[in-house]
Amino acid sequence: NRQFRLARRPAGMVKREDFEFRTDRPRPPESGEIMVGVEYLSLDPAMRGWMNEGKSYIPPVRLGEVMRALGLGTVIESKAPGFAPGDTVSGQLGVQSVATVAAKDCFKVDPSLAPKPLFLSALGMTGMTAYFGLLAVGEPKPGETVVVSGAAGAVGALVGQIARIKGCRAVGIAGGAAKCRYLVDELGFDTAIDYKSEAVPAKLREHCPKGIDVYFDNVGGQILDDCLAQINLRARVVICGAISQYNNTTPVKGPANYLSLLVNRARMQGMIVFDYADRYAEAARDIAGWMREGKLRSREDIADGIETFPETLLKLFTGENFGKLILKV
Ligand code: NDP
Repeated sequence: NRQFRLARRPAGMVKREDFEFRTDRPRPPESGEIMVGVEYLSLDPAMRGWMNEGKSYIPPVRLGEVMRALGLGTVIESKAPGFAPGDTVSGQLGVQSVATVAAKDCFKVDPSLAPKPLFLSALGMTGMTAYFGLLAVGEPKPGETVVVSGAAGAVGALVGQIARIKGCRAVGIAGGAAKCRYLVDELGFDTAIDYKSEAVPAKLREHCPKGIDVYFDNVGGQILDDCLAQINLRARVVICGAISQYNNTTPVKGPANYLSLLVNRARMQGMIVFDYADRYAEAARDIAGWMREGKLRSREDIADGIETFPETLLKLFTGENFGKLILKV
């Protein structure tokens, strides 16, 4: 079993030295457990937060513990009812090639329905985040303008496409011309803003002539402030993430333009995808249906080799990933 354990709490960007790479014999399953051969790992910006000490929506990864990660693999051995060798399962498997975990924390997926990586992408937590963040928290109505940041990323790309499906104008904010072209030409966004080379406030004014009704925030920082400045009466601001702040060595500064919420009687609300777990099946059905009808596309960026984990994870914070970042074990 090859695995990455958290060796120390990172300061700023993660480094290889923050982890210990170890090889040992996998632990046989006890009652209620399954042993899984891990095939794919989901690399998520949230992993950076899990490495920090402090109170969050789930406890931090302990020092010396296998780094937490969602994954997908095949059951090798089972001591749990309902799970048999050969079953494909997904759950918190950790950054390792073989995981012995409680079966109740995993769920079975049917690999005949879609390519396996998709269960960590549009049909997995990423898709659920976009779906419930936009529809349940953002509550978009047809004709409204939806702005999403991190738009060419895994969650953001789905948010913009679902906004279009719901009859909204979709405006994406992403880094670089290639990602912006992709949003408009391939995914059907109405328009895209390159925050690395364009002035975001001026471009928002140009592309959102009727203001912003829903802002889906993946990045926080200056872009959140720029969007807050242009929200409409009763706008909804969905706080999904703040990737621009995750590697800060100083505390996160709140938005300077928050009084825009007061002036506009607007609402800014945080969301955690796990709160919608009992409705995942409904979302997966809708998303799979849209994919079948050709209305929604999912893009995966698959890196190879568990040994590359620290460097591959870093791609999320440099913007080198193009699509849902997945590590093929
Ligand atoms: P992405 O695929 O979007 O990858 C991260 C992207 O963030 C990069 O490609 C990069 O795109 C962008 N980025 C990195 N640094 C910065 C920066 N300083 N400023 C602006 N953009 C930056 O990852 P995910 O789709 O998996 O996650 C997107 C967001 O959703 C994250 O904030 C994550 O924490 C959040 N999330 C929240 C969940 C919840 O339950 N609330 C669940 C899942 C995800 P670019 O090249 O455009 O800069």
